[in-house]
Amino acid sequence: MLKVKTFVFNPFQVNAYALYNETGECILIDPACNSANEWLTLEKFLTENKLKTLAFYNTHGHVDHVAGNSIVHEKLNIPLGIHRDALPFLSEAPRTGALFGFNITNTVEPGIYLADGDIVRVGNYELKILHTPGHAAGSICFYAPEDNFVIVGDVLFKGSIGRTDLPTGDYDTLIASINDKLMTLDDNVRVLCGHGPETTIGKERNSNPFLV
Ligand SMILES: [Zn+2]
Ligand SMILES: [Zn+2]
Repeated sequence: MLKVKTFVFNPFQVNAYALYNETGECILIDPACNSANEWLTLEKFLTENKLKTLAFYNTHGHVDHVAGNSIVHEKLNIPLGIHRDALPFLSEAPRTGALFGFNITNTVEPGIYLADGDIVRVGNYELKILHTPGHAAGSICFYAPEDNFVIVGDVLFKGSIGRTDLPTGDYDTLIASINDKLMTLDDNVRVLCGHGPETTIGKERNSNPFLV
């Protein structure tokens, strides 16, 4: 089983995820720690659980989600994986970040580019990449079929969906992404969101006011 540890980082309360297996291999998704204390929290967890981090990934390029990229890259020396369409956000991050009080000193060049249908491996476990634009260009979700969860970034929330009023956002594109890529999954798949509580595909299918 792929274990999931959730952290809540930075003033935007981003859910950061560590996924790891029984042999200690680990990947990080949106490890958005943006203070020394937040980094120490993450580091302590990795050390105490003897985890070997393989790579880290961003669900999308919004500054609250990439705010830990430089510290994670510097401290762990692991590659960043992202969808190519999210690249413009990365180069903007120091400037945009400054507007919101983030300390983003440099941008990390991605070492891995992910596209729809690609597979990310954590040892024997596989995560399937779902390309889900609409909230932001280059948004991707990480679906773990064996372990029945999907990490969705800001695409879908409990009772809501991602905002579409920011650059590259588009309402119809977002709804199409959710319907085509997420609502085709089973009802019992856990949905791990970029902010706030988790939900399931079935709950959102039946009660999300943007989808029913
Ligand atoms: Zn976002
Ligand atoms: Zn966000």
